[in-house]
Amino acid sequence: MKRTFPCIEIDLQKIRDNAAQVIQRCSATGIQVCGVVKGCNALPEGASVYRSSGAAQLGSSRIEQIIRCRDSGISGPYLLLRIPMLSEIADVVRWCDISLNSEVTVLDALEAECKRQGKTHQVIIMADLGDLREGFWNHEELIAACCHVEQTLSHLHLLGIGVNLGCYGSIQPTPDKMQELVDLAEEVEACIGRRLEIISGGATSSYTLVHWGTMPPRINHLRIGEGVLLAKDLQVDWGIHDMDYLHMDTMRIRAEVIEIKDKPSYPVGEIAIDAFGRRPTYTDRGIRRRALLGIGRADVGDVERLIPKDEGIEVLGGASDHCILDIEDCRRDLKIGDIVDFSVTYSTMLYATASDGIAVHFINS
Ligand SMILES: *Cc1c(COP(=O)(O)O)cnc(C)c1O
Repeated sequence: MKRTFPCIEIDLQKIRDNAAQVIQRCSATGIQVCGVVKGCNALPEGASVYRSSGAAQLGSSRIEQIIRCRDSGISGPYLLLRIPMLSEIADVVRWCDISLNSEVTVLDALEAECKRQGKTHQVIIMADLGDLREGFWNHEELIAACCHVEQTLSHLHLLGIGVNLGCYGSIQPTPDKMQELVDLAEEVEACIGRRLEIISGGATSSYTLVHWGTMPPRINHLRIGEGVLLAKDLQVDWGIHDMDYLHMDTMRIRAEVIEIKDKPSYPVGEIAIDAFGRRPTYTDRGIRRRALLGIGRADVGDVERLIPKDEGIEVLGGASDHCILDIEDCRRDLKIGDIVDFSVTYSTMLYATASDGIAVHFINS
């Protein structure tokens, strides 16, 4: 069966433009870009945009996605973004050229597996500079791990060190944080007696320093997903106004109206819990015109994160397979079978591109 709606429509030309802008600005300051594809379920069409725009590597947190891209004929190198699980080491060595690492146990397991497969593997060692997700907290331990790779793990190549910011701890990348990483890299270099090839300064949030021209010189690698695929975090959430060289309307979600009725806005009967075990609150606004759409949490996660493009439409809520809209104030005279469009946020993109129940349509490919 070929589904028409709901769908996520992706404008590949806009993503191509974004990739060109970001990669060109980064290369002008000597920074390579790893094109991160996990946000769009590593759709090969998206991955090949990064590839043809000059990304140095393609990155994902999930090996399955890397395998799928390779199987669609998109060439590497591929960078595994999530610290490898011991249970997936054989696949890491088989499918990934580079991985981010923060555990000596994992590095030793990678070495043993490389020996078994007769391969070499490149690693970037992660430092935690305050965001408190992955990475060595203790600098001495990080330096010791780097020396261990360099001096005793002959099948691993120490490519460099990196950091992740703005994910768990919401820490803003600043020139100071980046300099801290460079200083750490130079301590590692003093210990191993050579220069590191890569100092990886973070994700989309670190791109701000490229935009403002304040990135310390030795940072030479960023791993960018959202900033190319959607480009909204920095322009909308950070409020950066002079970044309008990036398109924010690269994608839209389209869903079909399956019911339109005037109904009370306050549920009728004794209120217990909703389909997801929550106790939402409801406001009584009297009888309102409402539309039901054939799209739900199974497709996009929280339907409340869908942003209607029509003025006067409000998302009231939903369940696994439905989304409920208040259309009382909508200027368009909606009918059964009409299509309602939504702009896309990172989480809706993540779910929608991975859901079986929602078609992916490409335009301007
Ligand atoms: C997801 C991820 C990125 C890319 O993040 P964006 O905000 O989408 O640019 C970079 N590095 C790591 C380690 C990640 O997990």
